[in-house]
Amino acid sequence: AEPLGVHVRAVDIGGGYVAVEAADVTEAHRVARVRRDFVANVSHELKTPVGALQLLSEALQDALNGGDPDAEAVTRFADRIRHESARLSRLVTELLELSKVQGADPLPDPEPCSVDRIVAEVIDRSRTASAAKDIEIKVLGDRGLVVYGNEGQLVTAVANLVENAVAYSPEGTRVEVEVGSGDEAVSLVVRDEGIGIEARDLDRIFERFYRADRARSRQTGGTGLGLAIVKHIATNHGGRVDVTSTVGKGSTFTLRLPSRSSEQG
Ligand code: ADP
Repeated sequence: AEPLGVHVRAVDIGGGYVAVEAADVTEAHRVARVRRDFVANVSHELKTPVGALQLLSEALQDALNGGDPDAEAVTRFADRIRHESARLSRLVTELLELSKVQGADPLPDPEPCSVDRIVAEVIDRSRTASAAKDIEIKVLGDRGLVVYGNEGQLVTAVANLVENAVAYSPEGTRVEVEVGSGDEAVSLVVRDEGIGIEARDLDRIFERFYRADRARSRQTGGTGLGLAIVKHIATNHGGRVDVTSTVGKGSTFTLRLPSRSSEQG
């Protein structure tokens, strides 16, 4: 059970009387704390690339000063400036995405979406990253299935899972996207032969900014927001996302979505 949080306040209402006010603040406090933590996290995450950009631009300036610029140093600093800018831009894009999907509002008009189309779009988006690592993305399972929801959000969710599968896998491995259907749900399973996730991290990877391995996530350009976005999208659609993983062997993420609109019962 949740601990009870009650604010009690005595107010002198004059005439020798005191009124006692009591308010349940448990939920309000929790929400306020979560919000404060989030703002602190966002500020910290934004400060890192911004700080790097400041230092790098100063270093670039120094390398250019003095009449005889060191071409190699200039190129190196310029590369890192581009890298940090890209990181900052990704962070802002994902923050906007997160704020869009974590709103309490219900989905904007769920529509029937072709799972084949969603998967095709995801594969298309992941092509550059997978080709760079010589990773083959194999699509398996049922064709012709339909889910109800927002196609753009569903593409984002599946794309995040596939991008992670590619990012956290060694070169030359295989990623599978398997589509299946049960009684009232469609499942999209994204399987990789990558580094895997420690059992103690499994519960936490869906939290905003949580990264099992900060250094590696940074190296792969991760923001720590991808899976939080996936989870919100799954929940918004009346579905869920689950993970199983073995360190050194690979991970399997399963996104389950209702195969009919809620209006149809
Ligand atoms: P990031 O932007 O860091 O990838 P995510 O929210 O997408 O953030 O994922 C959170 C963390 O979960 C990652 O930093 C990584 O440690 C872990 N993770 C996610 N997907 C995988 C995967 N397919 N294989 C191994 N680890 C993963």
